[in-house]
Amino acid sequence: MDKKTAGEVFKVLEAQYGGIGTALNYETPFQLLIATMLSAQTTDVQVNRMTPKLFADYPDARSMEKLTAEELSEYIKGCGLYRGKAKHILAAVSILTAKYQGQVPESLEELTALPGVGRKTANVVLSNAFGQPALAVDTHVLRVSNRLGLARGKDPLKVEEQLCGRLPREVWGQAHHWLIWHGRRICKAQKPLCGECALRELCPERNSNPESGKAPGEGGAGALTDSAF
Ligand code: SF4
Repeated sequence: MDKKTAGEVFKVLEAQYGGIGTALNYETPFQLLIATMLSAQTTDVQVNRMTPKLFADYPDARSMEKLTAEELSEYIKGCGLYRGKAKHILAAVSILTAKYQGQVPESLEELTALPGVGRKTANVVLSNAFGQPALAVDTHVLRVSNRLGLARGKDPLKVEEQLCGRLPREVWGQAHHWLIWHGRRICKAQKPLCGECALRELCPERNSNPESGKAPGEGGAGALTDSAF
């Protein structure tokens, strides 16, 4: 996809989803880290059902450190792979208290050194909790960016590099949310709703789901001209 078209795509995405952040509920960087760790193989809705009680009882690293894996599992057993997640979380919490005075470190290297914390989780924390330029690539971002031609390939790191190369640093974190929400609401994995998609005029795969119907109304992406990207 050429630079001009990519700019138009991002402008439409911003118009559609600008201002919408993560669906995960949290109050502190620590709580976002834990919620994001829980969200692997689990929907944000499911995570949000479990975290209110967990964070009310154990709001920070120093209090959560007192839990055993079995006790933590009771709080999070509504999410997939919860036994493994409980072990990873407690191992990470132990490092946070021992090495960082219970705080969450603010660098990619330090975050990804924590048990159970991969690059995607680290980037989510860096951008959402600390306002750093970071673009987390999850399954939605990977799928939507490939369908739109914004990036190519299945390697999240390479897709992240391609997307970041197309965008100013100050919108990396927002672009993550735009692509996620577009993937959840419209460009769904099995049956993308191409007929309802504001990007259909710009998308090379707009006919990938002929069952999704005709485009409703006017106002497609082609009308937008003064792209900031
Ligand atoms: S036109 Fe279809 S494939 Fe393309 S972004 Fe929209 S929903 Fe996804």
